[in-house]
Amino acid sequence: MTVKTFTFNPFQENTYLVYDDTKEAIVIDCGCILDYEKKAFKQYIIDNELNIVKVINTHLHLDHQFGNKFLNDTYNIAPLAHIEDEFLLENVKSQGAMFGIPVKEDAQTLGGYIEDNQTFTFGKTSFVALHVPGHSPGSVAFYFEKENAVFVGDVLFKGSIGRTDLPKGDYATLIGSIIKRLLPLPDSTVIYSGHGPVTTIGEEKVNNPYL
Ligand SMILES: [Zn+2]
Ligand SMILES: [Zn+2]
Repeated sequence: MTVKTFTFNPFQENTYLVYDDTKEAIVIDCGCILDYEKKAFKQYIIDNELNIVKVINTHLHLDHQFGNKFLNDTYNIAPLAHIEDEFLLENVKSQGAMFGIPVKEDAQTLGGYIEDNQTFTFGKTSFVALHVPGHSPGSVAFYFEKENAVFVGDVLFKGSIGRTDLPKGDYATLIGSIIKRLLPLPDSTVIYSGHGPVTTIGEEKVNNPYL
């Protein structure tokens, strides 16, 4: 399995392109908004002859779904996300204005929902969705057991945790999600966060001051 990380938009959001040697690929949290970002993404797909088969979201905060409309327009694939985050697709223009980012188009609507413990497959790879609310009510992590990796969105960062001051965020729920669903994963599991560098479950257990 190959993980290609793009860091997109003014929020420095990590967009992950995950694929295996079948060339089937999934996109996690497509955040490209500027033309050169979309161009770089498209070029990578062409250069590596990838076939995008799924677009999924750890959650639907603006910076994680800026690029979903571009993906749907370009590759004809609508994103999947947890139903409890769907409300975040309303009024993206005013959300953007709040952060000083001009959002010209309405948000891309979902192509379906992600359920807790749901298994997904692409190419020869499979992974499971873990509902980890708190940063947003519909936050999910994607756990690749065989590949020893988990994509956590904004739930957990190297040395930090997600903010809980955004709509429907909740601190106790977030800590509960991390303790119940993420920390029990093997210590060697590589954590891919929505912002910042990779880390591991073992490292966060020891070094994260919030846990
Ligand atoms: Zn977020
Ligand atoms: Zn974010």
